[in-house]
Amino acid sequence: MIELRQVSKEYPNGTKGLNKINLTIGQGEFIAVVGLSGAGKSTLLRSINRLHDITEGDIIINGKSITKSHGKALRMIRRDIGMIFQSFNLVKRSTVLRNVLAGRVGYHSTLRSILGRFPAADVDLAFGALERVGIADKAYIRADQLSGGQQQRVAIARVLAQEAKIILADEPVASLDPLTTKQVMDDLKRINQELGITTIVNLHFIDLAREYATRIIGLRAGEVVFDGPVSDATNER
Ligand code: ADP
Ligand code: ADP
Repeated sequence: MIELRQVSKEYPNGTKGLNKINLTIGQGEFIAVVGLSGAGKSTLLRSINRLHDITEGDIIINGKSITKSHGKALRMIRRDIGMIFQSFNLVKRSTVLRNVLAGRVGYHSTLRSILGRFPAADVDLAFGALERVGIADKAYIRADQLSGGQQQRVAIARVLAQEAKIILADEPVASLDPLTTKQVMDDLKRINQELGITTIVNLHFIDLAREYATRIIGLRAGEVVFDGPVSDATNER
């Protein structure tokens, strides 16, 4: 469902973030991308969602090239892809519910999204998503009143409300303590298993990758240096 063909990303200053990457990722996989800081993990996720343009190659999502899509076609592909960031990227002063409803923006006209009034069906979806991550009781609380782990759960609920088929999580637990890390990783894993959402998680620690992923992709200097099932992953990082 996700295919990268000879993908390179060179930043304007000449740094090669990715160098001729080839990957095929199937529906429902739970993949950990590991590598030292600067290896290209973030560049990889940002390329898949086309948060930036790649400089070479092609990325195919469910049979359609996101690299060559524009306008409505691009928005339709992106609607299927949910992003989760280390810093949660919530609207801090908005309620939890409003933050989760933001996942529905791609389904409505721009005007409706600006006005921020969503149909009742969306509110139902948002509550269903909040229930799935166990924080429905926090719906009317301001996002910045929650703990880090709870805020990351709001971000997970947002991609669930989006009805994303792919989750790209860029170091989602990097700013969380060990216990909260486990809770958030458990949530991501459970959602992957229950809903079959293809999940790619950038992780700094190989131990977490081994514990949760079914496939590990190791990056070094923008190149894939390991790609295989967890059982084949050595202690190398
Ligand atoms: P990781 O997520 O594994 O830490 P990144 O994808 O952030 O790695 O970075 C890969 C390489 O690209 C690094 O050498 C980094 O310095 C460089 N890089 C990342 N973002 C930019 C940017 N906006 N401009 C220039 N170089 C960048
Ligand atoms: P405001 O528009 O000033 O934020 P509202 O009274 O319209 O205040 O909404 C209060 C809260 O109710 C919102 O912050 C949001 O969390 C929630 N809410 C309930 N239903 C909806 C809906 N259909 N669309 C958007 N927000 C909703």
